[in-house]
Amino acid sequence: MAQMAELDWMTYQSMVETPGCLIFLPVGALEQHGPHMSMNPDVLIPQAIATAVTDRLGNALVAPPLAYGYKSQQQSGGGNHMPGTTSLDGQTLCCTIRDLIREFVRHGIRRVVLMNGHYENSMFIVEGVDLAIRESHHIGINNLNIMILSYWDFVSDDTIGQLYPDGFTGWDLEHGGVMETSLMMHLYPELVDISKIVDHEPAQFPPYDMFPVDPSLTPASGTLSSAKNATREKGKILMEVCVNGIAEAVRTKFAPVPHVSVST
Ligand code: ZN
Ligand code: MN
Repeated sequence: MAQMAELDWMTYQSMVETPGCLIFLPVGALEQHGPHMSMNPDVLIPQAIATAVTDRLGNALVAPPLAYGYKSQQQSGGGNHMPGTTSLDGQTLCCTIRDLIREFVRHGIRRVVLMNGHYENSMFIVEGVDLAIRESHHIGINNLNIMILSYWDFVSDDTIGQLYPDGFTGWDLEHGGVMETSLMMHLYPELVDISKIVDHEPAQFPPYDMFPVDPSLTPASGTLSSAKNATREKGKILMEVCVNGIAEAVRTKFAPVPHVSVST
């Protein structure tokens, strides 16, 4: 049982009191992902990866994911002008992450993994973590260790070569493309309708942004590259690569050393 919210509080407390207990916080977004997919892959994918990693590690929990994220940017998510895309201000996201970490720390947790599923969240997660660590130092807690990752960074160049034989356009243009669509076909096939995939050339943007954005720069589909070549098999490969890599990183960086409390 890895899902924090599904535990009774006493079971949760006894898990947290186990030395080295670790909690994953998936951080997602509610954002259009083209006509062929639901608006929550940025939530469901990191949650599924965190759950699979937790099943391998033991002594780890998955917190309920953050279902909203920072504003979609045109060059990485189609843009925040798109219908359905529902975003937080950066400050709200930072403070929410800080607040949640503070609560986990109050429960006794000292190991947290922030599992990002939405490109634009990255630096706001860093800021929330920085605020939480600074605050924990103020109350004399100096053994809080936090890992921040975006799951796609665990997809190796070899896997990219295997999955994108015609060339890879980069993670920013993968919005609603082969990676996310394949993962969703593997994990949640009922939320994907491949008959609605719009096949188009990768979006092209100038090397700058103008605000307000020019909506005509976003492909009409809302996706930034075509998902035509997405398959369930690719989703399975992506899932394995991410789960293996993340489990290995967590095992390495949160080695099973005795849980020592350090006070100032
Ligand atoms: Zn996405
Ligand atoms: Mn996104």
